[in-house]
Amino acid sequence: MPELPEVEIASRNLSAWTAGRVIVAARTPDLARFEGDASDLAGRRVNSWRRVGKYLVAELEGGLAVLSHLGMTGQWIADAPPERAHQRVVLVLEGAGPQTVSLIDPRRFGWTWILRSADVASHPRLVDLGPDPLSGDLDLEGFQSAIGQGKTALKSRLMNQRVIAGLGNIAISEIGWRARVHPHRACESIGPEEWARLWSATREHLEYVLEVEDGEEIEYQSSAGAKNPFVCYGREGEPCSRCPTLLDRLTLAGRVTFYCPTCQEEAP
Ligand SMILES: [Zn+2]
Repeated sequence: MPELPEVEIASRNLSAWTAGRVIVAARTPDLARFEGDASDLAGRRVNSWRRVGKYLVAELEGGLAVLSHLGMTGQWIADAPPERAHQRVVLVLEGAGPQTVSLIDPRRFGWTWILRSADVASHPRLVDLGPDPLSGDLDLEGFQSAIGQGKTALKSRLMNQRVIAGLGNIAISEIGWRARVHPHRACESIGPEEWARLWSATREHLEYVLEVEDGEEIEYQSSAGAKNPFVCYGREGEPCSRCPTLLDRLTLAGRVTFYCPTCQEEAP
């Protein structure tokens, strides 16, 4: 499932493929997950793409924007052949470079909206987003104060996009393992050194995934035969790479957490 790094890579790819180019036409084979008038896009130049939390925002000339969420399985692909299944939105481009970029989304949880640029920041999906761990504006102190000191489990706070934007189930298993902190711990039980490790681990995880997944087409863990690039996520029953213990899994609020029972004590 796309989390911050996958959306960041999509944003960089879309910028490289489309920035400065004119959209000749927009095809929307799946209007059920599309809001706005696709014909408004025709003839407009793409100024830029950026990531906001787990959302993509394209700014077009004339004060129009495209907001895109990848859902569970969505990805934007350059020059997808017509026979490629599950194309939900296709932007046809003028001039040199890829002739099309397509949102491919087998499970159809993705969404696309066309809106005025002036309305992007106040869009209901974006208005309440918390700070972005990759933005450079966030530091250890800001990270810790955003998550807070309450009785709530660390994982619940990290999953909450209003607390911190962009993290998801994969990131939380990875960050917890890297920091040696159990994600189900109550925030109030986490000590200063653990907070420092959690913040470093967050940055390390994001930078690691940006590097290993960089490419024109991301392979999601849910697809058959996908390689697992993660250090802990999805590795239940495999030995921890720090100690001889086998990694385990637990469920909180219906979402699986992977962890090392020795390196990450649930109640220290
Ligand atoms: Zn371990």
